[in-house]
Amino acid sequence: MPSNDSAKTPTPPTIPFDAPPAMLTDGLDILKQLIQIDTTNPPGNEEKAADRCAQYLNEVQIASHCHDALPGRRNLMAEIGPADSEALIISAHLDVVPADPDCWDHPPFDAVEADDCIWGRGTIDMKHVAAYGLAVMRQLAKSEHVLNRRLRLVLFADEEAGCQHGSLSVADNRPDWLQGYAAVTEVGGFTMHVDGHRVYPIQVAEKGFVWMRLHIHGAPGHGSMPHEENALLKLADIVRHIGKQPFPFQRTQPVQDFLEAIAQVLGFPKGLVFRGIGKQSVSDLILDKLVAAPDKTRVFRALLRNTIAPTIAISGSKSNVIPGDAHLTVDCRILPGTDPDDFVRMFKERVPGDYDIEVLAKGPPVVMDTSHPIYNVLEQILRDADPGSHPVPQMLTGFTDARAFDQVGTPCFGFSPIWLPPSIPFAAMFHGHNERIPVHGFQWGLACIWELVQRLCVATGDSDES
Ligand SMILES: [Zn+2]
Repeated sequence: MPSNDSAKTPTPPTIPFDAPPAMLTDGLDILKQLIQIDTTNPPGNEEKAADRCAQYLNEVQIASHCHDALPGRRNLMAEIGPADSEALIISAHLDVVPADPDCWDHPPFDAVEADDCIWGRGTIDMKHVAAYGLAVMRQLAKSEHVLNRRLRLVLFADEEAGCQHGSLSVADNRPDWLQGYAAVTEVGGFTMHVDGHRVYPIQVAEKGFVWMRLHIHGAPGHGSMPHEENALLKLADIVRHIGKQPFPFQRTQPVQDFLEAIAQVLGFPKGLVFRGIGKQSVSDLILDKLVAAPDKTRVFRALLRNTIAPTIAISGSKSNVIPGDAHLTVDCRILPGTDPDDFVRMFKERVPGDYDIEVLAKGPPVVMDTSHPIYNVLEQILRDADPGSHPVPQMLTGFTDARAFDQVGTPCFGFSPIWLPPSIPFAAMFHGHNERIPVHGFQWGLACIWELVQRLCVATGDSDES
């Protein structure tokens, strides 16, 4: 995503919406506790974190329910409010990606508070939202608020390894947990600093994926007498072809909407750059000559085409034996409008070679309906929480638990708000070293989720409208 790190640090917005101070303190305590429970996936071990969350709810007499996809892989659900209404769902995953402590300034599972931040794996991705949901539910349980819509918190295992033992298992076994009015999860609602403007993406789409293993056929032989049927040579041809022949430019509606929204924020003439990125005739030229930053151009390129990344190559077992077969794993990401099964056929047509395809896993692209009324509410909350800022729709190149919600027909938007200064870019925090969340930014985000619940779940007259 575009950001401008050289922008002067803007003054953080105040904590909005008269969020109860006790809830803000409670949320921070919960976050620290959850960070200290190591849920690195693999193996995950989300049970311990899920049980701690259940305990937080139990303290205020909110019952919770478990679904264990496998021993230790616990998913948790709790809800409050009238049963005869469609639920607003706040969802988060409790697992985190690995962290190498040698690359961190503070230990990744100690939840150290330093430089006005909480440091730790999962502070941004995404135990903060689990803490938001728990703190909001606890506050509602302790106060007089009357709910006119059900509020549900769903905490998943296994998002970081493909969701199989998490949201996808829940979708198969407890689809009722995912059915509701609408859901929010990662990735969106964080501050992006673009040329001095504060932009808040809301995730409205994500690419699908097809993970495949190619079984490449050759012929074995003695290493002293090379021949062209060497499976490694065939593998190399396939890898080279994939690298040199990217899929063609393809502009989809969510990306068009994103580029147009940023163009409008930037105005003339800088906005033209973003409009140009969405035009096939000049897109590559602009990315190479004007954007010219590999970390940014690769995002745009991935948003504008189906992609294939070779990730694992296996062949051969002995120095002097020519291998008769080889295996190549490829990670393919597909745009909205492309069906995973059609993509497998397209792959076979585009990539020549003597191989069979084994599909390891696949998931369709997800596109949310931005005409759903919650989308306007999310935009308005961000505008109110940071006056002068700009919410924009965005598509993710990866996938999230939104896929499982999509499977049961519930719209799920990426909205996990955090105020971030230019010195802490979201993209660098997400799976990065030194993942950390500003204390103020966390409490600002918690206030946004509090307000979301006020606007959608709390009976009028019982809330402070601000
Ligand atoms: Zn995540």
